[in-house]
Amino acid sequence: MQSKKTAILGAGISGLATAFYLKKLGFEVSVFEKFDRPGGQILSVKESDYLLDKGAFSGIETTGLIPQLVEELKLTESFIYAGEKANRKQVRINGRLFEISMNPENLFKFPLFTFRSKFRFFIEPFIPRTRKGARLAVAEFIKKRLGDEFLSYIIEPFSSEVYAGDTSKLSIEAAYPKLFSLEQQYGSVIKGFKKAPLQQPVSDKFEGSGRLFSFTDGMETLTSALGKNLGYRVNFLNEIQKIEKNVKGGYSLLINRKGEIKREDFDLIVSALPAYTLADAIQGLSDGTSQTLRRVEYVPLVQAHVAYLKSDLGETLKGYTVLIPAVEKKEVLNITPVSEFFTGRCPEERILFSVIMGGAKHPDVIGMEPDNLKKIAINTIKEIYKAKDKPVFVSLKSLKKAVPQYNTDYYDVLQKIAAFEAENPGLFITGNFLGGVSIGDSILSSFKTAERVARQFPQ
Ligand SMILES: Cc1cc2nc3c(=O)[nH]c(=O)nc-3n(C[C@H](O)[C@H](O)[C@H](O)COP(=O)(O)OP(=O)(O)OC[C@H]3O[C@@H](n4cnc5c(N)ncnc54)[C@H](O)[C@@H]3O)c2cc1C
Repeated sequence: MQSKKTAILGAGISGLATAFYLKKLGFEVSVFEKFDRPGGQILSVKESDYLLDKGAFSGIETTGLIPQLVEELKLTESFIYAGEKANRKQVRINGRLFEISMNPENLFKFPLFTFRSKFRFFIEPFIPRTRKGARLAVAEFIKKRLGDEFLSYIIEPFSSEVYAGDTSKLSIEAAYPKLFSLEQQYGSVIKGFKKAPLQQPVSDKFEGSGRLFSFTDGMETLTSALGKNLGYRVNFLNEIQKIEKNVKGGYSLLINRKGEIKREDFDLIVSALPAYTLADAIQGLSDGTSQTLRRVEYVPLVQAHVAYLKSDLGETLKGYTVLIPAVEKKEVLNITPVSEFFTGRCPEERILFSVIMGGAKHPDVIGMEPDNLKKIAINTIKEIYKAKDKPVFVSLKSLKKAVPQYNTDYYDVLQKIAAFEAENPGLFITGNFLGGVSIGDSILSSFKTAERVARQFPQ
């Protein structure tokens, strides 16, 4: 039997990994990418003496597919794990730093918790189980079970690190599936924590170590290697404009190739495009699905890379990520001393920070002057680390639509997509707005999508 001619749309980690797995399963794949490089949001660049990951500076090994992929792509020698510091974080509240970890024992002993919170923790096991998880916001769930201090000091900082999100909009079930399932299984978050700590990796066939990783030349090593593995099958500077059904029972793509519009036919299509781009491409196929996709919220981020001489930092540097919760009302969401996690990011005597600003609560960062944003990043580092002098390096990157939000309408989006796929056999949708926003989740979703395609269209 002839193999199915399959188009994969988008060459971010989701599209590349899906194409890689489908190719292994015997599909004839062609990837279409708007820009001239693979990687999408994953971008590692050299600027003077610095190696900058403009986007994800690391991944978490949440699935065993990651080490497997690293081995298959022959990247073992450049694959690096971060040290112990990566598992610890600090939260900055009222100008002071407090250490937190995902160890539940420590979470409930956070020093700013008043008697009110301690009483909440005591009664939490007696609060009835949640019934409408999907449509329940994180803030509502946490306030009800653990109180507003737990929300402000623990959950909000983590939510802004992962989603840069607003806890009054994020869905507890979609954004914190493990936390929610503990509550559902044991009838209590606290009982669940005791029985099955959160940092345990998912114990299915995709089990991962849970460790933070990168590569000696940055995260883009992974997407570049996937791009090389796929070779001629990746078509750069090919912007997808429309997906249409054709008379042969397959699909036609309308592709903008450097200003020229071409039509190409395929048996199968897998979209790994952002929701808002896919919304435009499928408008003719389903106006309703297109509108649902357009409503998926993406929040903006600005990332500043700032380097200092180590000798100019007054505060003893613990080397942990510092999270700044929403109660602080700051544009800066978190600061990570990336060169403390992975070597080779900057010269030995310096330290390189990644400062993330914006998110759901500060979308205005996008309209701000670059000098102003630099000042905000530098002043925050000065306050936290008592930096004496000026930084030796600053670089900015703005992303208008950086992180898709897993809001309380997430399950409506899933339902709409499932119905759309059923009405359009051979058309599949994957990407970071569906199965999790992290690199590990994107790889796992890609693997599952490839398996789904192969199950429905065996080669
Ligand atoms: C600042 C930042 C920091 C992050 N940090 C981390 C981290 O530390 N750890 C972690 O695990 N994750 C992190 N993430 C998240 C993670 O990097 C992303 O979720 C993931 O890389 C998204 O991959 P994707 O392939 O789904 O989407 P994308 O990377 O957005 O890929 C979509 C691709 O489609 C292409 N495209 C768009 N429109 C068209 C079109 N019309 N035709 C053809 N191609 C098109 C785009 O150019 C792009 O290449 C971070 C994200 C950001 C923004």
